[in-house]
Amino acid sequence: MRLIDKLKLVGLLEPKLSLSDYAQQGWLRKMANVEKRLAGNVPGDFFVDSSCIDCDACRQLAPEVFTDAGDASIVSNQPLTLADTRRTLMALVACPTGSIGTLKPQDFRAGIDGFPMPIAENVYFCGYTSESSFGAWSYLILRPEAEGGNVLIDSPRFATQLVKKMAVMGGARKMFLSHSDDIADHVRFAEKFGCQRVMHADDGAARLGIEWIIQGEKEVRLDHDLLAIPTPGHTRGHVVLLYKQRYLFTGDHLAWSPERQTLTAFRSVCWYSWDEQIRSMEKLLQYDFEWVLPGHGRIHNDSPENMRSHLKRCIGWMKARR
Ligand code: SF4
Repeated sequence: MRLIDKLKLVGLLEPKLSLSDYAQQGWLRKMANVEKRLAGNVPGDFFVDSSCIDCDACRQLAPEVFTDAGDASIVSNQPLTLADTRRTLMALVACPTGSIGTLKPQDFRAGIDGFPMPIAENVYFCGYTSESSFGAWSYLILRPEAEGGNVLIDSPRFATQLVKKMAVMGGARKMFLSHSDDIADHVRFAEKFGCQRVMHADDGAARLGIEWIIQGEKEVRLDHDLLAIPTPGHTRGHVVLLYKQRYLFTGDHLAWSPERQTLTAFRSVCWYSWDEQIRSMEKLLQYDFEWVLPGHGRIHNDSPENMRSHLKRCIGWMKARR
């Protein structure tokens, strides 16, 4: 009997899915290895192995189960309720490196069905993060065709189950790429959905074959409700996307810090210019937004006034680290 059939028989794999389905989902590309189980995991079914790259996705999705253990995540509490188990399985599916494993058979469908995950209104988190973008989060905005259709923000892993779900939800008409670090499988998504990709020239958009190339530092209206705002700093061609003056998709420019309870930027991974990033941050003070939806770091929701206060604190913090 083939390995895949044995795994299906014992319930480790979904009977209806093929080997290629699993391979494309990333599970058979590399499954968590119990022999490499990190010592800090509490005893029980779920574990994290030593391939974890500390991207934080599992801790965001199931904070009651996963904990930061320095340079990796560990399972600090085994899930007890159905809801916790579902969130843990969603973390397993979202993990970019297949570092989360189980000892006993689980219904992985519960994790697969969780994505795209609703955040607010018609905005979703895609899950299925990619190792090539260090587990960066990507998002999907659902819009009627008459209003320009769906928008994919940065690229998730091109996983069969996600692609199928997205197709049912209307695919993607536009794909906004915040910067060159988070492009992952953009070519495959563009081929699948025929979407128009948007990216800044200074992050190599022409070389990547991007259809709509943004130039310079002036904001660019992509649609009646979509505004691209160049924010050089993290990279030279970094751009954030403002949707409906409510949702700011910030790539690696800006995120919420749970430790400092305010907005923050990432000094140690500023590849282009910290001074430019400060200037770009100051530029954002003129815009209203209620959500910060980053590639890395935490999501935050607050009033436009409070967001502006947090942004000012962030700018002060950044200036102190010149
Ligand atoms: S999602 Fe995976 S790679 Fe990221 S911190 Fe968790 S176990 Fe590690």
